Parts: sequence; structure tokens; C-alpha cells
Amino acid sequence: MQVPFVSFEPMHNEINTGLEKALLDVLHSNWYIRGKQVEAFEREFANYCGANYCVGCGNGLDALFLILKAYDIGCGDEVIIPSNTFIATALAVTYSGATPVFVEPNIETYTINPALIEEKIGPRTKAIIAVHLYGQAADMDAIAAIANKYNLRVIEDAAQAHGAEYKGKKTGNLGDAAGFSFYPGKNLGALGDAGAVVTNDVGLAEKVRALANYGSDYKYHHIYQGNNSRLDEMQAAILRVKLCKLDEWNGYRNEIAQKYLNKIKNEKVILPVPNMYGTHVWHIFAVRTENREKFEKYLNECGIGTTIHYPIPIHMQGAYKGEKWKKGDFPIAEKISMTELSLPMYYGMKEEIQYVIEMVNRF
Ligand SMILES: *Cc1c(COP(=O)(O)O)cnc(C)c1O
Repeated sequence: MQVPFVSFEPMHNEINTGLEKALLDVLHSNWYIRGKQVEAFEREFANYCGANYCVGCGNGLDALFLILKAYDIGCGDEVIIPSNTFIATALAVTYSGATPVFVEPNIETYTINPALIEEKIGPRTKAIIAVHLYGQAADMDAIAAIANKYNLRVIEDAAQAHGAEYKGKKTGNLGDAAGFSFYPGKNLGALGDAGAVVTNDVGLAEKVRALANYGSDYKYHHIYQGNNSRLDEMQAAILRVKLCKLDEWNGYRNEIAQKYLNKIKNEKVILPVPNMYGTHVWHIFAVRTENREKFEKYLNECGIGTTIHYPIPIHMQGAYKGEKWKKGDFPIAEKISMTELSLPMYYGMKEEIQYVIEMVNRF
């Protein structure tokens, strides 16, 4: 049996008519940037997250960068981020001019370990970016307690966690502001690049909206040296159709995850540990094994697609060569990068689920 790592087909087949209509509506509207679709999506997504404001932008990296810029975080400042995350979290910080300060994750939940944050806080620390990695919210109460004590901003990197909850509240509504990505492979994905900032802070929402549109608050009036990072009408129209299905699709992913968790029984394979605080949306089902190369090759030979999230920790990436970090500085992130493998996880998996379980158990 062939099991791809991810497939959009079952999702798109269900909403094909809606997607085609959405695209044609935009085509015939003669209005492609910042129009009715974006406005409606922003309202609907803010509402979905339980937050007051949503501002669309070009992608998830820009969303995080725009938040930092709007909070005037930049040169000379430090921002705490987890050592195990997608590189965009770090790039947003370095684009702003600030320096990322890595804190190791909890190896069981994969999210930042709040107990290790305080020792990394110094006079220049301005914010903590909590990444809801693999679809699970970080431990936000513990992070908020530290942030309050040191007067820091809490920014959520919610690019992998649309709809995930922490103590009954949705991501996007758990800090000062959140950056979302709608890259096609995310739980809520566009048909291209797209992103958004979600916040309850009206001042931040307005500033991000201007910053993402050439720093303009009113046509041809530029109050900031802004960027061009806008959500377009096509992507917004697609996202509106998909948003109606997000809870159902996340629920399906959770069913797959529960089957994996209950039925994968192989002492060589370490399963992810959902925390006690809320709902995981399983953007990625991350397992670990000491013999990753062999495990990966074996599964691929069984016809099962896999991916590594992520093979090189950020502090060891060529992009950050010459920085003060070196191999050995973040052993937990390094260990995850050497042992992690992600199993297939997508809406519409059927007999494929049992097949993956059996093959993993036979390894
Ligand atoms: C995908 C992702 C981003 C960046 O989103 P893009 O839309 O690709 O720019 C940021 N952070 C995390 C954790 C991500 O997974």
C-alpha cells in the first residue's frame, strides 16, 4: 500500500464546488487586494480564535516579523524562542534586528520548557515567542507568569496550531499577539502563501495593518517605512471556504492520532505526549527513535511517506554560521533533530491508518 506523507485530495474533493465558486467570484469581482473577501475572512478568523482582531498578511514569517516591528522590538533587543522550531521563528527575530535567545523544549511535549526561560532573561529581553509546535499549545500560564514578572510581550507562533486550545481558549487568543501561517500544508492552508496576525490589542492591529501595506494608514500617506505583505482576495476566499471545515478536519486528525497513540506498540518508537491543558490539533505526528535512518528507510520501503521536523536545529544551520552558538549548546534540540520522524497525518486517511500502525509495530 502507498501512503503519502500528506494529501490534500480528500479535503479538496469535499469542497471542490465551493473552492471553484470562490475563485470565480474573485475573478469576476475585478478586485484582488484588500477587498470584501479579506475583510470577511479577517472577521471570521478573529471570531474563530475568540479574539477581537485579525489582520491578513503575506505569510507566517511576515506575521511574526510584523508583530515584532509593531512592538518596536529590534536592534539591541533579545527575544526568547524555543531551540526546536521551524527556522521562521528565528528569522522573524533576526529580520527585526533583535537577537534570538534559545530556550530548550520539554522533550515529551516538544514545546518550550517554561522552567528554563527565567535564566535566559536579561536587561535586553523584550518578548517570548511561544511556538505551539506540531499542533499543541505551549504551557501559556507558566509563560505568562514569567512575562508578567519581567514585563515582556508574549507572542504566539501559531503557524502549526489553528484551532488548538489551551484551557478552553484557542491559540491566537493566548498572548499579546499571534502569527498564523496559511501555507498549503498547515491545518488551515491556502492555495499559496498567506498569513495573519491575530490580537486583542487594537493599537497593534492598526499598526500591523499599516506596516503590511507600505506603512500607509491612508492611501498615499505613509507613517512608517513599511513592507508589502498583504493577504489577497483569492487566498482569503479559499480560506473562508476551508475555515468552515477546520474543526471537522482537526477532529479527524485527532482520531488518527488516537489510533496511533493506542495501537502503536514498539519499544523502539517513542510516541508524542499530549499535555494536559487542552486540545492538540496534530499538525504533525512526531515520533522518536534512536535508529532514525533505518526506521525512515524501512517505512519508505513499505510505501509510507515520512518527513523529519527538523533535521538541523536552528543554532547549527548555515544561515546562522558565525553566531555565538555551536553544536552541543542545545542538546535537547539536537537530540530531537537526530531522532524525530513524522508519520502520515492528513484528513481522509482510512485503511492507511491501520497499515501505518502495523508497519511501525513490525519494525
Ligand atoms: C510554517 C511556519 C512558519 C512560517 O510560515 P510561512 O507561511 O511559511 O512563512 C512559522 N513558524 C512555524 C512554527 C511554522 O511551522
